Amino acid sequence: MTADDRGKKRLSQITTTREFHRLYETPRSVCNLFSFAFRAGNFYPSPMVHVGIGYDVHQLVAGRKLVLGGVEIPHTKGLDGHSDADALMHAICDAVLGALGEEDIGHFFPNTDPRWKGVPSKIFLEEAARIVALRGGKIVNIDATVIAQAPKIYPHIAEMKRRIAAALDVSEKQVGVKATTNEHMGFIGREEGIAAMAVASVNLPE
Ligand code: MG
Repeated sequence: MTADDRGKKRLSQITTTREFHRLYETPRSVCNLFSFAFRAGNFYPSPMVHVGIGYDVHQLVAGRKLVLGGVEIPHTKGLDGHSDADALMHAICDAVLGALGEEDIGHFFPNTDPRWKGVPSKIFLEEAARIVALRGGKIVNIDATVIAQAPKIYPHIAEMKRRIAAALDVSEKQVGVKATTNEHMGFIGREEGIAAMAVASVNLPE
């Protein structure tokens, strides 16, 4: 007898109201459980996932170190900026701040403030993570893409993930970093600059 046949036979046996209720008792108890969970959920706020997006670009110039994701990459040029100009960490910082509905990195760390001159950008990520914790939140994951014509980014990605995860106090598994070229097009293709984009998801209490 197939499962379908067994189902048909069972249906044909429902002849009394008692039989009908016996069959529907399980769904009703499941409904009660959901109702309880809903009421408990209102009492103890459940987390909601918030998503943020970030983008940054810096100019490539001679005489500067190239730092991306906290990793110093040997190259003929480096990114220009007030801090270490780590476009990847800046994009991630903006994504985390965006998930919180906060203002951007420039608001928290203005490039006119001498305190941030030449500093490693990991301190911006540490601060963003601190604000997440202050709000009772938890970073779920980060994903980012570096857009650079040169140098090759791939050999440095594992170390970038380690440093980004350490700055945000999350596991490396929660951090994605990818890289692409700009197919020799535009200012990135002409190696005049490097850009990065990122998304962050953060669990926040409702
Ligand atoms: Mg920047």
